Amino acid sequence: MENTIKITRVKASKVNDLDFDNIPLGTIFTDHMFICDYENGQWQTPRIEPLDLIPTHPAAMALHYGQAIFEGMKSTLDIHGNPGLICPEKNGERLNFSARRVGMPDFPVALFVEGLKQFVGLEKNWIPPQEGSALYLRPFMYADEPFIGMRAANHYKFIIIASPSGPFFTKRISLHAETKFIRAAQGGTGEAKVAGNYAAAIQPTELAKAKGYDQILWLDAVEHKYIQEVGTMNVFFKINGELITPKLDGCILNGISRMCSIELLRARGYKVIERLISIDEIIQASENNTLEEAFGTGTAVGVAMIQDIGYKDKTIHVSDNNPVGQMIRGTVHGIRSGRLEDEFGWMVT
Ligand code: PMP
Repeated sequence: MENTIKITRVKASKVNDLDFDNIPLGTIFTDHMFICDYENGQWQTPRIEPLDLIPTHPAAMALHYGQAIFEGMKSTLDIHGNPGLICPEKNGERLNFSARRVGMPDFPVALFVEGLKQFVGLEKNWIPPQEGSALYLRPFMYADEPFIGMRAANHYKFIIIASPSGPFFTKRISLHAETKFIRAAQGGTGEAKVAGNYAAAIQPTELAKAKGYDQILWLDAVEHKYIQEVGTMNVFFKINGELITPKLDGCILNGISRMCSIELLRARGYKVIERLISIDEIIQASENNTLEEAFGTGTAVGVAMIQDIGYKDKTIHVSDNNPVGQMIRGTVHGIRSGRLEDEFGWMVT
């Protein structure tokens, strides 16, 4: 594998067409993409080139057998105007964890991080400066070998694209605890970031939204009793002064925001427990007024405050205030912006 990234720039950037105060969700893409092909048992020369359509054979294996994985991360500017990422190597490691689960080759973590650095450096003018906004980065890998038959592919593409985004989930969210559909079971792919997990969540999420909820609170596959995670976030509850989050049991995505939040909370003196949590325990805590707050964390510590949870015919009221969630949000923003010291060594600029 050759590590030097071959860069071809666009003739003219489209960044001036973007209204940074009014960024539509997920439809605007930056000028370039990072792209690398896997052929003959190895990754070929990585390139950064103008974003373009990719010709795809109708028999490309990702389209049929679903060998497709992705990552999600955010870059923001600090007060000196430098772009930063939180723990990008963790996303690289998780990408490879996902890759192995669906029989795909590892992408070298050092090249993943170097590719991101050069790519984000090139797209720096696309990073929205407003608080809570960011340049969303989408690294992904899929099988592009044309072949009908069930086996691991021999050809893959690893690509990074980027899309500027406004602040997510600034409102408090309402969850539907799902008792019919499941997201993940022991031995399945819940712990990996494979595209199929998201496909299987679409119909249940649409049904929940039609009932007025924002997201699904996923419960375990066997008893529909133990809490797993929320939509595309990990979940935390504060009960009687302690923070509790579901343990990584093979069904839950090992969120980078979850990891950072636990590190921050412990450093601030909070007791954080990773264990099984049942929905009954949440109902009970709500009834006896010990459920102090709940929030979701995702894509390098965005925090979504949870207002209430619908479970069967009940509505579990959580809280109207989230001092701990706000502390995490504020601290991460401070560290990202460089106004607070990067005491955990998260930032890569
Ligand atoms: N769970 C799921 C299912 C997700 O898709 C995500 C987003 N990647 C998360 C949790 C949160 O992970 P992270 O903090 O790494 O964004």
